[in-house]
Amino acid sequence: MKRLYPLLLVLGFLSVSGLGHAASPPAGDALPLIVIDPGHGGADLGATGVTGIFEKDVVLDFARSLKKRLEMLGTCRVILTRDRDVFLSLEDRVRFAKKQNASVFLSIHADTAPPTPKPRGSQKPKTGLMRV
Ligand SMILES: [Zn+2]
Repeated sequence: MKRLYPLLLVLGFLSVSGLGHAASPPAGDALPLIVIDPGHGGADLGATGVTGIFEKDVVLDFARSLKKRLEMLGTCRVILTRDRDVFLSLEDRVRFAKKQNASVFLSIHADTAPPTPKPRGSQKPKTGLMRV
């Protein structure tokens, strides 16, 4: 099992035109939809932190918070692939985003980093585009 040291959130994010700084954003269903995917869940714990916290719980909390903050902007709609501790396959997550006709699919993970007395550099997050 991987150990999770200081949490490093890894986001796979797609940029979408129409999000952000519209002078008067459209209302309701006309707003672009962001599907946030908190990684792992259920029996799939993801990485484990030094305190015993599981990645699946960290990313779910982060996803819920991000959803609230994005919705406060009023420029997009946001739904989560999961909002409880349940396992979904990658195929299920992507199928869900496609079914919702999402503009953005954002998968959230918290990676691991080994302890070191003199931390150097950074880990390059894996990002990528996924056509949904
Ligand atoms: Zn992960």
